[in-house]
Amino acid sequence: MRSLMKSRKKMSRTTIARILDAFHDSSRVLITSHKEPDGDSICSQLVVREYLESLGKECVLFNHGDIPARYRFVTGVENIHTDISAYDFNPDLVVVLESTSLDRTGDVASVIGDGVRIINIDHHEGNTLYGDVNLVDDRASSVGEMIYKILSEDGFVFKGTTAENIYIAILTDTGRFHFSSTTPDAMRIAADLIESGVDTRRVTDQVYFSMSEPQLRTIGEVIQSAEVHLDGRLCALTLTRALLDKRGMSFSDFEGIVDYSLQINGVEVGVLFKDISDDVTKASIRSRSNLDVAEIARKFGGGGHPNAAGVTLEAPLDEAKRLIIQAVKETLDRND
Ligand code: AMP
Ligand code: MN
Repeated sequence: MRSLMKSRKKMSRTTIARILDAFHDSSRVLITSHKEPDGDSICSQLVVREYLESLGKECVLFNHGDIPARYRFVTGVENIHTDISAYDFNPDLVVVLESTSLDRTGDVASVIGDGVRIINIDHHEGNTLYGDVNLVDDRASSVGEMIYKILSEDGFVFKGTTAENIYIAILTDTGRFHFSSTTPDAMRIAADLIESGVDTRRVTDQVYFSMSEPQLRTIGEVIQSAEVHLDGRLCALTLTRALLDKRGMSFSDFEGIVDYSLQINGVEVGVLFKDISDDVTKASIRSRSNLDVAEIARKFGGGGHPNAAGVTLEAPLDEAKRLIIQAVKETLDRND
């Protein structure tokens, strides 16, 4: 573990010590992450909870937004609450994972009382450092990786559920060890976790190969929706409420389908558009080159990583498509 830490200035030992002190000094901890949580946020939250409960702390897990279907098998996921109106907990510490700003937690931000200490652990560039303690490493593959390093410094041993959940965080945030976030540290930690008994085939099957037939058929229609623009450099997919309603499904049944937008050889930028309402459109943007899509997302108030970003636009579907495609065109033109 020590050799993993040495090379990474962003994971400062002093900051890690401050986080561990705050954990030990706490009694009631609220653990949250960003709206529309993903595998990294969910699994990292669950691991922090197991660790804190092993220290005898009381924990509440809360996220704004449904747990995506592909993560409903995760051990402990039923402990994550999604209804803030049922919230009645008075924490003395709040742990915010994976959120560039406090706003990204959605409704959760509004229930954090004044003066409650906030620990901010994230791996997104542009984090606004809103915590009382901030640990931000944009070179980390996942927050799961950061949690592994932090808790290892406290002598926490990952086995069983905690090993599996960190593995899922790394697996999903690296796109199954595909994205450029697949760093040596990510691989070393994954190797340690496999050694401690993670059943990699079972976990990968659960996350990626456990669809229902209607899900598969809906994905077929989303793929049929593909539009190729900008001389084959951009592929746009669309998932509409109309399509979901037809099969009684929801957006959270389709986490990760944006990945199909980068399937075509030569496509540099992939986008998935979702019509959240008549006037609100979510765009998930991906790139495989060094084209920074977080910068594009930020133009419209969103954010993310250079190769994976997202933004919610106050615009109808067609207008949002026009805006994003134009912004991608401008970025490509500038880079050419
Ligand atoms: P998504 O497109 O939702 O899969 O998100 C891709 C990446 O961008 C993830 O790391 C998200 O946390 C981040 N992201 C998505 N939406 C936003 C937003 N509105 N603001 C900041 N970051 C975002
Ligand atoms: Mn992440």
